[in-house]
Amino acid sequence: MIRTVTRGEDATRSLGCRLAQVLEEGDVVLLVGGLGTGKTTFVKGLAEGLGCAEEVTSPTFTICHTYSGRLDVVHADLWRLERVNEIRDLALEEALEGGAVLVAEWGEAAEPMFGAEALVVRFSEGDSEDSREVEIDPSPIFEGRLGALEAAVGVGASG
Ligand code: ADP
Ligand code: MG
Repeated sequence: MIRTVTRGEDATRSLGCRLAQVLEEGDVVLLVGGLGTGKTTFVKGLAEGLGCAEEVTSPTFTICHTYSGRLDVVHADLWRLERVNEIRDLALEEALEGGAVLVAEWGEAAEPMFGAEALVVRFSEGDSEDSREVEIDPSPIFEGRLGALEAAVGVGASG
């Protein structure tokens, strides 16, 4: 588990951008955390880090956006999708097989499907209005990239 604190929106965006450097095709990043904790902000940085030129917007009403970059980024918002079948219908697995990276807000809904292979990032409020606590929990398939992940995030692992 890697823990860090971001102070301000730009710091969360930068964290996403740095974390993107260790991502590979087919990776799944599940973002967990309440409204306003910085999930979309993080995705903006992640997409930037993967060379996507288009600005990321929240996919709440469309459920899914794809951005083209060094790797394609499929940005999903699973808010209100409760059943695994609804998530299956989004064809996320096909996107992953096609070499994209999947990053999902309200990612807890996808944990039954992707949890075992995902990088789970949990956001919560920090000690001030503009701080957020961020916990990065890589599944065992990221084991070979842990050092790179820590270096990218810029903090030591704990826990
Ligand atoms: P979510 O997608 O989790 O609902 P957003 O990224 O859309 O959250 O919004 C986060 C809001 O919190 C933005 O208005 C942003 O300016 C503000 N904010 C304040 N501090 C931070 C921080 N450290 N990281 C991310 N967002 C922050
Ligand atoms: Mg959001």
